[in-house]
Amino acid sequence: MSEKEKYYGYAGTILRVNLTQKKISKEPFPREWMKKYIGGETVGAKIFYDEVPPEAPALSPENKVILSMGPLVGTLAPGSGRTTLTTKSPVTDMYSDSNVGGQWGAEMKHAGYDHLIIEGASEKPVYLWIDDDTVEIRDAEHLWGTTTWQTDDSIKSELGDGTIQVACIGPAGENLSSAACFIINRARACGRMGLGAVVGSKKLKAVAVRGTRGIQIAHPEKFIKECRKLFDKILNDGMYKMISTGSLNIADLPWPGTPSKTEPLMRYAHSSEHVIDTYDEISCKNVKEKVWDRDLACFNCPIHCGNWSTIKEGPWKGEKGEGFELNIQENCTYMDICDDVWFLPKYNFLCNQLGLGVDEAALPIAFGMLLFEKGILTEEDTGGIKFEWGDKETALKLMKMIAYREGFGDVMADGTRKMARRIGPDAEYWSKNIKGGEAIADFRLTYEITLAEAVSPRGACHLKGLSLYSVHAQNMNYLSQDYRDQLQKIYKSPAPLTLFDNKWAPYVTRYMIHLMSAVDSLGICAFGSHYMLFHAIMLEDLPELIEAATGIPFTIAELEECGDRARIIQRSFNHLLGLDIKDDWPPAHTFDTPLEFEVRGQKMALTLDRKIYEETLTEFYKICGYDEKTGVPTRQTLEKLGLENIADDLKKHGVLPE
Ligand code: SF4
Repeated sequence: MSEKEKYYGYAGTILRVNLTQKKISKEPFPREWMKKYIGGETVGAKIFYDEVPPEAPALSPENKVILSMGPLVGTLAPGSGRTTLTTKSPVTDMYSDSNVGGQWGAEMKHAGYDHLIIEGASEKPVYLWIDDDTVEIRDAEHLWGTTTWQTDDSIKSELGDGTIQVACIGPAGENLSSAACFIINRARACGRMGLGAVVGSKKLKAVAVRGTRGIQIAHPEKFIKECRKLFDKILNDGMYKMISTGSLNIADLPWPGTPSKTEPLMRYAHSSEHVIDTYDEISCKNVKEKVWDRDLACFNCPIHCGNWSTIKEGPWKGEKGEGFELNIQENCTYMDICDDVWFLPKYNFLCNQLGLGVDEAALPIAFGMLLFEKGILTEEDTGGIKFEWGDKETALKLMKMIAYREGFGDVMADGTRKMARRIGPDAEYWSKNIKGGEAIADFRLTYEITLAEAVSPRGACHLKGLSLYSVHAQNMNYLSQDYRDQLQKIYKSPAPLTLFDNKWAPYVTRYMIHLMSAVDSLGICAFGSHYMLFHAIMLEDLPELIEAATGIPFTIAELEECGDRARIIQRSFNHLLGLDIKDDWPPAHTFDTPLEFEVRGQKMALTLDRKIYEETLTEFYKICGYDEKTGVPTRQTLEKLGLENIADDLKKHGVLPE
C-alpha cells in the first residue's frame, strides 16, 4: 500500500452485511468523510440518514443497525473502546443512537473495521462471526431463547476461544420488547430507546469478533505525548477519585437546590410524601463496602468506573457479575426500593441477562406505581397486578414480563409515552418523557438540565449536551471564580455562570453538544471529559491528539462544525418525520405541578416557567442557526455546513422555512 493509500487512526474499511440476501461486502472508508464527519457517532448518523428512509418502520428490514467505531478506538487514547449503535428507535419512532464501552469496539477496529452496517433481516436466527478478514453468517437457532450470559459462553465455547468479544441480545430483544438493549461484554449496554428490539427484528442474536491487527498511527511519538497529557489530566482531576470508584458517587452529592443526596432528583413521585428515608442503605458508601469486590475498566481506561459485584446475603446470595452505575441506584429511588442494598446487583444482573435496559425496565414500573397511587391505573387494567412503591418482588416479576412482553408487560414494554397513551389522557400528563424518551433527571431543577434533555434528538437524554455544572458548582467549592470566568469564555456565554439562571443555559448546552459529539465521534469515553471530570478533556485538548493519530489537522472551530453537523443530521431525520418545536418542550406537569421537598426545615416547590423556558429555547435555536419559530435549521446554516442535500430534503417535505 502506498503512503497515499494508507489510513492512520482509521481501519479504512466499512463492513456491510445484508441478512436478507446473506451477502457480505466491504467498502473503503471515504477519505472525504474524515474532516467533515470525523467518524463514530457522526459518520453513523450520516450513513443512517443517507440509507434509511424516514418512513421505514423501526422493526422492518428497511431499518438498519449501524455500529460505528471512531478513529481513536483501539488506540492508546484514554477510554478508547467506545462504539455507537445508530438506528431508528421503536420507542420514539425517530433517529436514535447509543454509545457503549467495553472491549468489543476496540476488537472490531483491530479486526480492520471502522463501521459495521447490518441491513435486511434473516428468516432464521443467525449470528455474525468476524475473524479479521473472514466474516461468516452462522446459524443461531441453538442460541435463540438464551440469556446474554449464556450466549456469550456458548459462542466462546463453540469457537474455542475465550478471548473473543461478543455483543448480543437477550430474550428482550428476541421478543421485540422496546425496552431491549444490545449487550456488549455481558454487562455494557447500548441502552435506551429499544435498540435491542431492532437487532432482534433482524433475527440477529450476536456479533462475535476477534481482531489481531494493530492500528497505524500517523505520528506515534507525538500521539504518545498527547495521550500522556490526557491521562495526566484525568488522573489529576479533582473528581477522579470519586468517579474511578463508580458513578454512584455522584448520587451521594447534593444536587442543585436539593437538601441532600438524591432527594428529590431521583424520585418519580411528585409530592413530599415520598421522601426516601432509607437512602443510606443504597448509598455509594454502603454499596462499595458490601457489594463491590474489585474495580473493572473498559478498553484502555484509567478511570475504571466499573466493578465486579457479588451478592453475599439474602435470597439471591451467590449471584455475581459486572457491577453497576448510577442509573441502577436512581431507578431504585424512582421505585422507592431503597431498603435493600442486595436488590441493586440483582436488578442489574437480571436486566443484563435478559438484555433489558435498566432505565427502560424501571421507569415504566415507577410510572405504574405513580398511576396506581393516583387511581389512574388499577388491578383491572393490569391483569391483577398491584403496583406499590417499594415492592421489589413485583418489580422483578414485571421486569421479566416487560422482557417477554407477557400480560401487562406488553403495555409497559413500549416506554411510558406509549404506555400512557394506552391507559388514557390522565396518565399521559404524568409521563416523564420527551419525544417518547424517558428522562432520568427531574426537569424542574435547573434550566440547563431541562434544555439539554429537551433538545436531544433521541428523546430525553442526559448524554447529549447536559452539563453537570450546577452539581459541580454547588458541591465541594470545586469551581473557583477564576475557573468560572474561564468557563464563561469557553462556553461563549454573555451571562455569568450562576446557579438557577437560565441565561447561560443555551450556551453551555451548545458547548456540551460539541464536546459530546467530538468524543463520541472519536470513540473515547465521555466520563474522561469535561462532562464528568470537570477539568479533564475539553474541545481544545482534541485537535493535536487527532492530528497525531490521523495526520489530519483540525481546529476547534472545525470540531464545533462537526458537532453542529451531527446534531443537524439527527434532527433533520426527525423533522422529515414531523418533529416540531413542541417536541423540544418538557412535559406539561413540569410547569403546572410543583416538585415538592424540604431543605433544612423549609418547604420548597419547584416548577418551570413557560415564558422563561421559551426564552431559553429561542436563544438556543438562534445560536445554533435554527429557525426560532420552528427549530428547523435554516438554509444558510445547512449550506454553511455543506449539508445542501438535507436542505433540499427538508424543502421537498415542506419543513424548511424560506
Ligand atoms: S470511564 Fe467507565 S464507562 Fe468510560 S471507558 Fe472507563 S470504565 Fe468504561
